Amino acid sequence: MTATRWLAEYAWLPDHAEPTPDVLIETQDGRITAVTPLVGGSAPAAGVEVLHDAVRLPGLTLPGLANAHSHAFHRALRGRTHDGRGDFWTWRDRMYEVAARLDPDSYLALARAAYAEMALAGITCVGEFHYLHHGPGGIPYADPNAMGAALVEAAAHAGIRITLLDTCYLTATVDGEPLVGPQTRFGDGDALRWAERVDGFAPDDTHARVGAAIHSVRAVPAGQLATVAGWADRRGVPLHVHLSEQPAENDACRAAHGCTPTRLLADRGVLGRHTTAVHATHPTGADVTLLGDSRTGVCLCPTTERDLADGIGPARRLAEAGSPLSLGSDSHAVVDLFEEARAVELDERLRTRRRGHFAPDELVTAATVAGHAALGWGDAGRLSVGDRADLVTVRLDGVRTAGVPAVGAFFAATAADVTQVVVDGRVVVRDGRHLTVDVPAELHDAVKEVTS
Ligand SMILES: [Zn+2]
Repeated sequence: MTATRWLAEYAWLPDHAEPTPDVLIETQDGRITAVTPLVGGSAPAAGVEVLHDAVRLPGLTLPGLANAHSHAFHRALRGRTHDGRGDFWTWRDRMYEVAARLDPDSYLALARAAYAEMALAGITCVGEFHYLHHGPGGIPYADPNAMGAALVEAAAHAGIRITLLDTCYLTATVDGEPLVGPQTRFGDGDALRWAERVDGFAPDDTHARVGAAIHSVRAVPAGQLATVAGWADRRGVPLHVHLSEQPAENDACRAAHGCTPTRLLADRGVLGRHTTAVHATHPTGADVTLLGDSRTGVCLCPTTERDLADGIGPARRLAEAGSPLSLGSDSHAVVDLFEEARAVELDERLRTRRRGHFAPDELVTAATVAGHAALGWGDAGRLSVGDRADLVTVRLDGVRTAGVPAVGAFFAATAADVTQVVVDGRVVVRDGRHLTVDVPAELHDAVKEVTS
């Protein structure tokens, strides 16, 4: 691949509190080879001559955004669950209806469209928390990883990277009730058979990696948590787990095990710097300390948490305790990491009736480098030499962003303001259009296929 020079009107460089104007970014073979601020810094040796062939990037250029928590098929539920009342648990019944209808072909089509929507939003890497493994009745497909393979292929079509977080899901309740109905498609029987299946899945695509997930303390018996954690640890891959999204999960765990879900995970060796707890909406003070002291990451999903009436997680306290924060769109009620990022700050404001809990660069970190790290891509999410050539450019001249200083972009821009997306050096989105996927048309068809 030939070298490319990009001239960013503004670029958000690592460890900078605000964007830097006029930055020349050079890339080759999918990597960033040079980053040169032209104002107040050292101009390139060739002076302006080197700039005539540079691709201009008007607006603010960010590193790639990472969506650290996704269930691709939930995209089919958007706008369909707002009739009547209910809560997380009644929403879950609707979600199961969609899950029951998917097969590898329809899963590929839906995920391809959902991931292409993410690409349009500036997301260069997705963490897919994948538990819909088997056919109806829990009968494995001829290839027992056919559903996971569909997701990996979908990400390739959409032009983004994926960490397939293959999820162990064995029981319906903390008490160990068996899976019933659509849930039977999630189960592998026990953690050893889960590991055996995942061992057989090794996509050779360079855009994909496999990690592990424990669905929750509801879905993996306490005695089998260490099997999943050990599998991830031996391979040095990320381990994710839904944690305390609902008070009911805490209550059931206390009744069954006499402790909180976080304490149970800590005692079974699940927490640590390669682990990401998703949500952590209702932790106790002691839980926050356990998470922070172990450097367990926390993936916040504010738009889903508001959509499902989960509550507001203690984001600032978790960060202070030592947990790196990342962001996920989870159920895809909204696919917009700008919205997720500012919600982390704005939700704290609602709770405390005070402003200014997170600096803008902390929100950028959560949306970029921390998310990539949580997904096992330690060489992405920063505009620095040697890192992956992911460039996400946001316009500052649109109706939402005109007059907004670059530092304020995360409080004004939406996914619709992303104009260009480069993933591993390849242009995936240009002028706000996906280059290979007709995203609205494919979303329409794929959602219709599994809902009508
Ligand atoms: Zn989730």
